[in-house]
Amino acid sequence: MKNIIYIIVLSVFSLKVNAAAYSTCGSNIQKWRTDYATLHLNSHTMPIGGVWDLKTREIINQWNNDGSKFEFRIAQDTDTTYNKTNGKTEIIIAKLSGSDGAFLGATYKRSVCFTGWVNVWGIVEADIVMNSNYPWTSAPYEGEADAYSFGLVMNHELGHALGLNHISIGLEPNTMYPNYPNGGPVGHYNQATPLADDRLGLRILYPKNSTVTDVAVSRYKKGTAFNNSVLNMSDQKVSSLLTGFPYKIEYTALNLGTQEENVTINFYISSNSYISHSDTYIGKETFNLRESDVKNGSHEFTVPTNLASRNYFIGYSINVDGDNTNNDFVSLADQVNINTL
Ligand SMILES: [Zn+2]
Repeated sequence: MKNIIYIIVLSVFSLKVNAAAYSTCGSNIQKWRTDYATLHLNSHTMPIGGVWDLKTREIINQWNNDGSKFEFRIAQDTDTTYNKTNGKTEIIIAKLSGSDGAFLGATYKRSVCFTGWVNVWGIVEADIVMNSNYPWTSAPYEGEADAYSFGLVMNHELGHALGLNHISIGLEPNTMYPNYPNGGPVGHYNQATPLADDRLGLRILYPKNSTVTDVAVSRYKKGTAFNNSVLNMSDQKVSSLLTGFPYKIEYTALNLGTQEENVTINFYISSNSYISHSDTYIGKETFNLRESDVKNGSHEFTVPTNLASRNYFIGYSINVDGDNTNNDFVSLADQVNINTL
């Protein structure tokens, strides 16, 4: 039997799609057979050195440092348009129209699948279009909705270009969730980066050839970016706490690296959003995170009685040897008010 399949993957706005993490052709995974792909960045709509160009390169660099042997290479495209069937993988900001007009972004992926007397498969082209119908920002995502995070959507679309499909919404933040903000960013700086399960997915397609040590924390706990919160002992969200009383702080820890790590999360109350070891310490949690693991947990603590009545930030930091990235600490999005009895 012969057949050739052209797959188009659309994303990201509100379409609910449940799919496997990747496509197959016969018994083979659909992927780039070369273990690399050259991305042609459109310098007409993303001028070289401008915010869109720089953000795109930043996200490409994130995917290139996940421990898999796959590599995105970068070239420039200087015309004003793109072509879904020219064999060239192009990234452009352009108007999506018709049935695609509502999507924030789209990846038009073309794969070949031929089974029979000989098997031929593989991705041959994957154009990424960032929809110019929407307002974009190159600033990190902080939960706002007046402009969409270019980094988060580019992160998701590059996952498609690599061969990853949507996964259904679960408990862990995941870049390949179909809905914006696609699992959200990590760390104090709200960095858009491939999340734990997505990185493992890439290493399944393109086996790992290097070791990466990288653990991270997030203020978000689900694909729809629900904030972690402070809870009372009845598990109700609270924003006003009393000194001397017990509460719980929800947290999310992610292993973005290539091997199991034993991690410690330290919890703090801070007068500012920048959580550091000099803030008021309120305990720790220690556990193992296997490769690609995400832990959504909660830590029980008692508000120290020596804190003055006022607003505070509350947050956490994660530690493991050999990890020097800046995604290791974060404060919850919402401040809490602490009162002395
Ligand atoms: Zn998508």
